[in-house]
Amino acid sequence: LVELESVNKHFGDLHVLRDIDLTVRQGEVLVVIGPSGSGKSTLCRAINRLETVDDGTIRIDGQPLPAEGRELAKLRADVGMVFQSFNLFAHKTVLDNVTLGPRKVRRLSKADAEAEALELLDRVGVKNQAAKLPAQLSGGQQQRVAIARSLAMHPKVMLFDEPTSALDPEMINEVLDVMVGLAHDGMTMIVVTHEMGFARKAADRVVFMADGMIVEQATPEEFFTNPRSDRAKDFLSKIL
Ligand code: ATP
Ligand code: MG
Repeated sequence: LVELESVNKHFGDLHVLRDIDLTVRQGEVLVVIGPSGSGKSTLCRAINRLETVDDGTIRIDGQPLPAEGRELAKLRADVGMVFQSFNLFAHKTVLDNVTLGPRKVRRLSKADAEAEALELLDRVGVKNQAAKLPAQLSGGQQQRVAIARSLAMHPKVMLFDEPTSALDPEMINEVLDVMVGLAHDGMTMIVVTHEMGFARKAADRVVFMADGMIVEQATPEEFFTNPRSDRAKDFLSKIL
């Protein structure tokens, strides 16, 4: 469903993605881990075309990433993204946050968009917050609204870039539980996280990045019990 072939990206002299080859199958849950600065966020942003790449190809569902216009809007709907910071529209209610995209891009009526939004808000456990503004919600609730907002676009794949790292500890699990649910429901997911519990529970495959390269890929059991590279061993010894 998601294919990267020999993808390279520089920021000036810094080579942040080096010959990345990666395929994510329909329904697969990929967890990406690696030290700070290894290129994990850049990888996610490239898949969503928030960042262009220098060479190589990225395909979603067989189609190369479009450069602009309606095609790009369609891509952003197909590839949902949830960031560390919740990025909700601060002056819109929770319900409006979830319905704006579907009304604009999917051309749903207000009533249809709201009915579907309430279902999604229910699924992530914040239906009773629909009339509030984001600032009136906890971080964990805001992040669950952000997930519902992405899901409202009916994405083919969801990207999560450290979705729980800005949250207080007691709110981390409520967000991870929603993500585990999505994984069990068959959503294709690429998740950058250092939450090893989530990786063990939900990941089909772990990708370890360092210095812009994919150093190692394995099942979570293999990776956590028997990392092959020194870089991965070193990294795991610091976070586990
Ligand atoms: P972290 O775990 O800290 O989030 P990361 O693995 O997500 O790190 P990236 O954010 O992808 O790493 O950054 C990779 C490298 O590219 C870093 O050295 C970073 O400083 C650099 N970088 C990222 N974005 C830009 C930019 N817009 N301009 C210049 N350099 C950038
Ligand atoms: Mg990052």
